[in-house]
Parts: sequence; C-alpha cells; structure tokens
Amino acid sequence: MLALSVTGFLVAPNAWAADSISMLEFTQSIKAQLSYDPLTQTGYLSKEDRFVLFSVGAPFIALNWTELKKVGAPRLEDGALVVPADFIREAQGFLNGKSTNKPTNYAIAAILVDPGHGGKDTGAIADLDSGRLLEKDITLEVSKRVVQLLKERYPDRKIMLTRDDDSYPTLEDRVNMANSTALKPDEAIIYVSIHANASFNKNAKGFEVWYLNPEYRRTVVDANTVKEKGDDIAPILNAMLEEEFTTESIILARNVYDRLSAAVGKQSPGRGIRAEEWFVVRNAKMPSILIEMGFITNPEEGQLLSQSGYLRKIGDAIYNGIVDFIAYFER
Ligand SMILES: [Zn+2]
Repeated sequence: MLALSVTGFLVAPNAWAADSISMLEFTQSIKAQLSYDPLTQTGYLSKEDRFVLFSVGAPFIALNWTELKKVGAPRLEDGALVVPADFIREAQGFLNGKSTNKPTNYAIAAILVDPGHGGKDTGAIADLDSGRLLEKDITLEVSKRVVQLLKERYPDRKIMLTRDDDSYPTLEDRVNMANSTALKPDEAIIYVSIHANASFNKNAKGFEVWYLNPEYRRTVVDANTVKEKGDDIAPILNAMLEEEFTTESIILARNVYDRLSAAVGKQSPGRGIRAEEWFVVRNAKMPSILIEMGFITNPEEGQLLSQSGYLRKIGDAIYNGIVDFIAYFER
C-alpha cells in the first residue's frame, strides 16, 4: 500500500491577462492536448506527432524531446498554468508544423518485466473461500504471460523477466539487471513492475498504475551541443532530459491504464494514475511503471485474481499498453 496518491493532469482555468496567457485556453485555441503533472510540475502539449515539453519555472521548452527553445517560463497563478507570449509563439509555431524539427528515432531495445516479490517474500496474502492467495504467485503468472506475448511480437528485442520462478531477487538485483542491459545511445529500455494490492479495508478494490520518477541524469550534453548552446544551459539540458523520462513514464502509465480499463474496468474500477518514487526504479535508467492489478483482500476481486482466465486478461491488457507505448515512442 502507498500513502501518497497524487493523480496528475489537473489544470485549472484562468482568465487571460496582458502578459500571462492561460495555458489551457491556448491549448484549446490551437486544438492541442495538454497533460500536466502537478507533482513534478512538468507537462507537455501534444498535437498529432508533435510534443512540447515544459516545466514550471524553466525558461525553456523541449520540442519532440530533443530541440530546446529559450522562452519565458510557465508559472502558476492561483493554481492555474500561465505562459508568456513568446512561449505561445514558439509552441504554436512548432505544434502547427511551422518548424523543421524532426522527431528523434529512439528504439525500445529492451523490456524488463518484474514480477513483484518471490521466494521468502510472499507479498500480500489473502485467505479466500477457495484457498490462500499469494501476491508473488499471481505477479509471476501475469508477468510470464506479458513476456510470452512480447517475445512473440518482438523477436528481435531483449525481453526479460527479473525472475521466472519462485526465487527472490533483491531490489538491488532487479535494478542492476535493468541498469546492466547494454544499450546503444539511440536505444531505451522500459521497466514494468507487476504487483497486487492488499488492505485491511475489505471493500477496497480496483487497479492502479504508478509511474516513477527516475533520478536519472544521463550526460546528454555532448561536446558539440555545449559548444553550440553554451556551457550555461548544460545543466538545464540535463534536467530537461530527466523530466523527459518522467514524462515518458507518464505516457507509458497512461497506455497501460487505458488498456486495463478497457479489459477489466467493468469488474475492477480504475483508481487512477499515481506517482511515487519507488526504490526499485529510483536508480533505474529508463521509463518505468508499477502496476497494482487489484486487491486480493477484496472478496470478489480476490476471487477474480485467483482465476487464470482473469490473470490472462490483465496480462493481455498490460501487453497491449506496452505495444501502444512502443508505437508512440518509435513513431
Ligand atoms: Zn507488491
């Protein structure tokens, strides 16, 4: 169970003012989409395949994750996002296609699926009418399904499990497995950790998807970039890249959440997309999510989660969410 429950994408409306234009109204006026995470105070505007990443207080925007433009910083006024005129000009020009910037071609080279717990660590336990249910068993069953489907779909990529039996890799082992995967500069790895929830409140039910804030500082700024842009912005470039990975985690979380809603939402209510800094991904250099498939302590949901058919549905939904994300990421 997690204490924190911040759900993103809240943007309050705001009146227009001389030099502070409401981000929401701007977004609507150009028919773009706005996503904003109040926890990290970062967000992005999107229109078709173009993205503008921003961060409250940062005097830059990143276009399609790569090219940076100096603009006035977005800020919060009475809880609403407002932006200066030059922000509008640059963002609008880019989103409406009046820019020559090309999207980066990253490839997802590896996917690491992590069945929570294992071995001596059972995870959550529930005593159901049909018998005892252990979190470690159902996370393994679902993870194996996800990996099997991913391997069939992507025979040329590294698809890995942190464990494929009832063993107990430590959190450090799991993180090392991810971090030691060899990647080329234009390759990325995604990390999907699968868990089930428990609560003393037997009525608690539903699934959650958490995205994680990797404290990830890759040295993105090569010598040429620094020469071109000047030393002073190198730390900001690095910070933006860190946010890029948070944003990608949010998008991965959204894709998986939507698929779970479609697959099991009638039986298990979606409890939202949430943010937390988990140890297991705090050191991981990749977009990462953690899925809580449902509450094994809820009598009805526990019953569902003890059935292979239901677990297969969840596995298929997670798989489809990852496929959606890859299609987006490599567009
Ligand atoms: Zn767990």
